[in-house]
Order: sequence, then C-alpha cells, then structure tokens
Amino acid sequence: MPELPEVETVARELRTRIIGKEINQIEALWSRSFQNMCDVEIAGQKILEIGRRGKYLILKLTKTFLIIHLRMTGQVLYFEQQNQCDFDDYIRVVVLFSDDTCILFKDVRKFGRIYHVADPDDQIAHVGKDALDADYEYFSEYLSTSKMNIKAFLLSQKYISGVGNIYADEALFLSGLHPAVISNKIRGKKARFLFENILYVLNNSILNMGSTISDYRDPSGEKGKNQFYFNVYGRAGLPCTSCGTAIEKIRFAGRGTHFCPKCQKNK
Ligand SMILES: [Zn+2]
Repeated sequence: MPELPEVETVARELRTRIIGKEINQIEALWSRSFQNMCDVEIAGQKILEIGRRGKYLILKLTKTFLIIHLRMTGQVLYFEQQNQCDFDDYIRVVVLFSDDTCILFKDVRKFGRIYHVADPDDQIAHVGKDALDADYEYFSEYLSTSKMNIKAFLLSQKYISGVGNIYADEALFLSGLHPAVISNKIRGKKARFLFENILYVLNNSILNMGSTISDYRDPSGEKGKNQFYFNVYGRAGLPCTSCGTAIEKIRFAGRGTHFCPKCQKNK
C-alpha cells in the first residue's frame, strides 16, 4: 500500500505536469471510485495547487478540491495525449484537460477513492498532522500520553499521518524498538531517536522515488527503488543487516510485522 513517500512522489511529479491545467471533464468508469460530495461544477476549474496530508493527495481547484487516496493499488497516471492513453480494464476514473493531456486513475482492487469536496476537512479532518510537518515536541507530546503499542501508534494516522506498515517496521528497527513496546515507555533520547528515524526512512524513500512492492507506480508509470534498501520489511528469515540474526515476521497490530528479535527488545 502506498505510504507517505509514494504519495509525495506522486504529488511532486503531478506538480510539474498539471498545475494550471483546466479540467474539461471527469468521468467515473467505476462509480464508487469517484465520490462527488459537492454540487459545484468541476469542468472549467483549474488545478491551482497540489498538496498532501499523510497518504492523501489534495488537489486545490479554482473553487473546490479533489482528494485522492490510493489505498492498496491506486495509481495516478499522466498522459501527454488523450489518444495515447494506456486504457485497460482497471481504469476507474478519467480526468481530461483542455490541452489534450489527461490523468487516469487506475486501481486493480477498487479500494482507492477520488473525493470531490468543498473543503478538504469534509473528508480528512480526522487525519493527524503530516509526519514531515510534525516537530519533535508535537510527536513526543502524543507519544508520552499514549498507552498503545508503538506499532499501532505509528499506524493509527491520528497523531502523525503518512507512516504505514513498511516505514513503521523500518523506523522501529533503526531505533532498536520492538513493535510491542508501549508508547509512553519510550522517553528522552529513545523518543527523539525514534522521531529522527521516522523522518530518515520517509525522506530517504522520497529520494528513491518510493517503494514498489507490487502495484505502486509514479505518474509516469515508473517503479520506486526504495524497496532495495529495506532492513526488515519483506526480509523474514533473512539475516539482520546489523547482527545476522534471522528477521522474524509476526502478525501484530493487525499487520504482518517484521523485526530483529536480537536488535529490537521488548522492554
Ligand atoms: Zn539484529
């Protein structure tokens, strides 16, 4: 599932391609993929800005907003010419621009959504501060009051948003923290180290254009490269990059969770 680095990579590439373009038409080929939640006409509006909060893309139009969540397999693909679009059975939404370019929303599993809203908070008010916008004081305040295990805390999106299963596992490994450690037990230097490692794994992945495990592609259809640098994610049974112990994978906080039983102690 795309997390912050993948969605940020999509945002950055879309900014270079569709800012200022006028939407001629938006068409849902799978009705649930496009949720029109406001009655302002989309056709004729321009794309003014492209932002992001956590895993949500926020397209600011002249009057309203399009909020995109890729979920499991969503892809936003850009094409220079509408007659060269790479149409297949998994295209759910088509956005045509007045200069003959277009974007296609492709989504094999159909969990992804494009919402048309008057205000982003109509859809994402519950999403916490973006991990890259949070400072340590903000992070540590929530951490110090939470009784959740740290894996669930990072996955919740309520306090900081954008960290999902991959980057939670990677940040906990670098921090020497077992996923079951209770959040409010992580204090002082350990808390600051965790915060720095979260930023490190996210920013490093952005530099590598995100991680492609299965479906993720950027708007040009390119795969990310960050999956080649994982320490624990997807490495069950392989030797720890630090101590050589076999990486374990367990079901934890509802997700397949990877960790080194020697480097990450539950205390
Ligand atoms: Zn180890």
